[in-house]
Amino acid sequence: MYRVGNGYDVHRLVEGRKLIIGGVEIPYEKGLLGHSDADVLIHAIIDALLGACGLGDIGALFPDTDPSYKDISSLILLKRTAEAVEKANYKISNIDSIVVAQKPKILPFVKAMKENISSVLNISVDRINIKATTTEGLGFTGTGEGIAAYAVAGVYSCETR
Ligand code: MG
Repeated sequence: MYRVGNGYDVHRLVEGRKLIIGGVEIPYEKGLLGHSDADVLIHAIIDALLGACGLGDIGALFPDTDPSYKDISSLILLKRTAEAVEKANYKISNIDSIVVAQKPKILPFVKAMKENISSVLNISVDRINIKATTTEGLGFTGTGEGIAAYAVAGVYSCETR
């Protein structure tokens, strides 16, 4: 059986925080605000994977009221998500995603992001796609107030149900 899930996340850009997207620290004057490292792309991917497996959402699995998740690398949360996917007897087919940001340029960091995600999920790099777009100056991403990310994940199970 084949299933899909989607994920969406937004974090606010503020001064005094590192900008971490896809597990890569991107040099920029601002960073994303959040309880964890606020890795907007990884959060969208986690929600897509959980959605595909019918396992709820990131807030249920990793509550932001839990002090153990403060400033945690979202790659660790992604690893735990991969374990939950495996426990539910699903394998990851592919991930497609979009980072929506007016600035900074995302493309130069996409290769490193894909390598991070590939090694954490233990799937080949060619099963992961990361796209980037601006919103032509429109909306909260266009004004630079925040960065958004969308993701879709496909999973499959060898069981018939
Ligand atoms: Mg988030």
